[in-house]
Amino acid sequence: MKAVRLHGHGGVDQLHYEEADTPKIVSPTDVVVALKAAALNHIDLWNRKGLTGMQVEMPHILGGDGAGVVAEVGAAVANVKPGDAVCLYPATGCGKCEFCLADNDFMCIHLRVLGERINGTYAEYVRVPAQNCFPIPPGLSFEEAAAFPLVFITVWRMLITNARLIPGEQVLVLGIGGGVAGAALQVAKQMGAHVIVTSSTEEKLALAKNWGADHGINYTKSDFAKETRALTKKRGVDIVVDCVGGEGWNKSLAALAKGGRVVTCGATAGANPPTDLRRVFWNNLSIFGSTLGSREEFRQVVNFFCNTNMRPIIDQVFPLKDAAAAHERMERAEQFGKIVLHIAD
Ligand SMILES: [Zn+2]
Repeated sequence: MKAVRLHGHGGVDQLHYEEADTPKIVSPTDVVVALKAAALNHIDLWNRKGLTGMQVEMPHILGGDGAGVVAEVGAAVANVKPGDAVCLYPATGCGKCEFCLADNDFMCIHLRVLGERINGTYAEYVRVPAQNCFPIPPGLSFEEAAAFPLVFITVWRMLITNARLIPGEQVLVLGIGGGVAGAALQVAKQMGAHVIVTSSTEEKLALAKNWGADHGINYTKSDFAKETRALTKKRGVDIVVDCVGGEGWNKSLAALAKGGRVVTCGATAGANPPTDLRRVFWNNLSIFGSTLGSREEFRQVVNFFCNTNMRPIIDQVFPLKDAAAAHERMERAEQFGKIVLHIAD
């Protein structure tokens, strides 16, 4: 098969479009999927650069997001059959620990995510456990079905499971343009929230308004905490979605109403910002940390797509062989929504 493989950690020149062995069924519960599309996530860049500290066998195939058609199934597989169109839940645990037994594989200490320790979706075929295959919501293309899993499961857990978003609440989403921020905007709007977004560019703020944002704040021109307070009649918002961290962290806390919740799933601007704890206890704030989510949460996301007309925001589609150009676009933070790799028609 054709695949984009990493031969060593480093720049985009380490991504090689080349021939690789097609994965085979190993366990009776395995499925081999012929991929039609894959999508990029920031974690792909970290994995490419070797910044996660994980030992990875080279050559390695990146990619946690994918969608395609089931090509082959193991003898014990009952939930899918060859020819089924599927999207992929990205996480697998040991299957034995307290977390795995409660369908919380994503908290397993032996967590394996597609494209991290195991080969991912930048390829014509991928091997996954059958229980990670879910039907594609009707009406979504393969590109869209590849674009939503990681970011929507992350956002679902943050906003719905953890922060328990209530219709009519006010939500602030930082750094609109990235995949998680875009998904947070979409889910919050579908849930009937009032949504304020921030960005460093007027262009992205304008695009966010097309996708339903009620207000946009250019954080390079004004203090987003003060601006948020002004927009909410000094009250503050109920929820802040912060996958940025860094210097903005204290502003996220300052933008919250009393009893507000902040959800964090990333720290692209810095992982060790100072925190004014007085603000946390005086204002009765809650801080939720989150990565990925469970299969049950993924099922809820799939249902949500089935029962709304929501479609993931696609920024640009590159052919698989141009994965390096796709990485460069993400690295320059030029995208608005998901960057997708087209693998096969
Ligand atoms: Zn486990």
